[in-house]
Amino acid sequence: MSDTETIRRAAPRRVIVAIDGYSSCGKSTFARAIAARLGYIFIDTGAMYRAVTLHALERGAIRSGIVDEERVVALLDDLTIAFRFNPARGASDIYVNGEPVEGRIRTVEVSNCVSGVSAIPEVRRRLVAMQQELGRRRGVVMDGRDIGTVVFPDAEIKLFMTADPAVRARRRYDELQARGETVSLGEIERSVRARDEADTHRTVSPLRQAPDAVVLDNSHMSVEEQMEWFMRLYRQRTGEPATAEESCASR
Ligand code: C5P
Repeated sequence: MSDTETIRRAAPRRVIVAIDGYSSCGKSTFARAIAARLGYIFIDTGAMYRAVTLHALERGAIRSGIVDEERVVALLDDLTIAFRFNPARGASDIYVNGEPVEGRIRTVEVSNCVSGVSAIPEVRRRLVAMQQELGRRRGVVMDGRDIGTVVFPDAEIKLFMTADPAVRARRRYDELQARGETVSLGEIERSVRARDEADTHRTVSPLRQAPDAVVLDNSHMSVEEQMEWFMRLYRQRTGEPATAEESCASR
């Protein structure tokens, strides 16, 4: 084995995996599983837009569903967002100004207002800059709506996830039920469709598939099947074994 090959095998190239797609496609669950498998950091950018929305709701910058853009932008100057690993959950929790908000950002109220907040150019500018900083060292799996198109157009692997809206509504419904929220399936499906519409039609960074993204329709796929599919793609793209164990086994 040549010296260069030894170095390449000892330190696999760390890449960026950008995952975009419609809401409630299981992007975050899948992205988290990929990050755990590759030993990468996982960043849920939807959680960042949700955190800003929750903050805006709590500070009265959104009333009766109406987003006051100027007030939301004014709040950004005193807003810090951080992720901290929570060993109990085996995942990172999101914090706003030092306060943990993970448990409060996925309510129906936040879901219904988040598209209005994420359409504000200044909100996007700040959050995109934070996301680029978080991924500066690569070795990151990031999921959202504009990761492969705006945040990391140079990502080595780009996925575009989609699934039938009825299947997505059912998944979100099961998630909320498990957390004890009483909601109707019809209401969830309307919210999912409304967010698709808002996310794909907004002026700033609308959700669209990057030309070099690979589409994954997971309407009828388990997380395990999606992972097998991804690992094949990962190996093709990077030429690397998937895990440290596989790396040792292949020596
Ligand atoms: O991914 P999740 O459904 O939690 O995202 C919530 C909302 O945040 C989306 O409906 C979208 O409006 C916004 N978002 C965005 N850009 C991202 C991630 C999320 O506009 N990169």
